[in-house]
Amino acid sequence: MHCPFCRHPDSRVVDSREADDGVAIRRRRACPACNKRFTTVETASLTVLKRSGATEPFSRAKVISGVRKACSGRPVDEDALARLAQQVEETVRASGCAEIAAHDVGLAILAPLRELDDVAYLRFASVYRGFDDVAAFEVEIAELRAHQAALATAVDPAVVDVAAVPRYGGAHDPAPPPVHATSAR
Ligand SMILES: [Zn+2]
Repeated sequence: MHCPFCRHPDSRVVDSREADDGVAIRRRRACPACNKRFTTVETASLTVLKRSGATEPFSRAKVISGVRKACSGRPVDEDALARLAQQVEETVRASGCAEIAAHDVGLAILAPLRELDDVAYLRFASVYRGFDDVAAFEVEIAELRAHQAALATAVDPAVVDVAAVPRYGGAHDPAPPPVHATSAR
């Protein structure tokens, strides 16, 4: 790697650490000629193939700018957008392909955006899926409601009241073993 300051053709790695939950490696380098230091970030190549046929490197910033428009006026902060973009990148990288269609990036945005904000999700989905009439919104809203209802009724094991759970297997073992009083001797 050329030194960006003096163009010396070599540099020495002085520190290297994982960044972005392992998606990238950040290396601190020193130039043996001018002694200046600089940082490089190494990620597996991930290219987005646009509908026009052009390609560009995957960019979280582009994911965020696309979603930000849909979130206009909604209670979604920058941290949430950054987390969403990270989730999207993890999803598309998990496909194992070095090149991914722009359409699939949009698809990877839908699920986390639905969890983030329902109005932003509907706005984004309407553009992404090309809703051209009210009926398309109605279908999407019905699906969104069904999803929310499913989430609301799903039992989270972490919030089950332990005291309410039968200790002896419930219906399969209706007669718990008698509890012997342990009297003081
Ligand atoms: Zn240098």
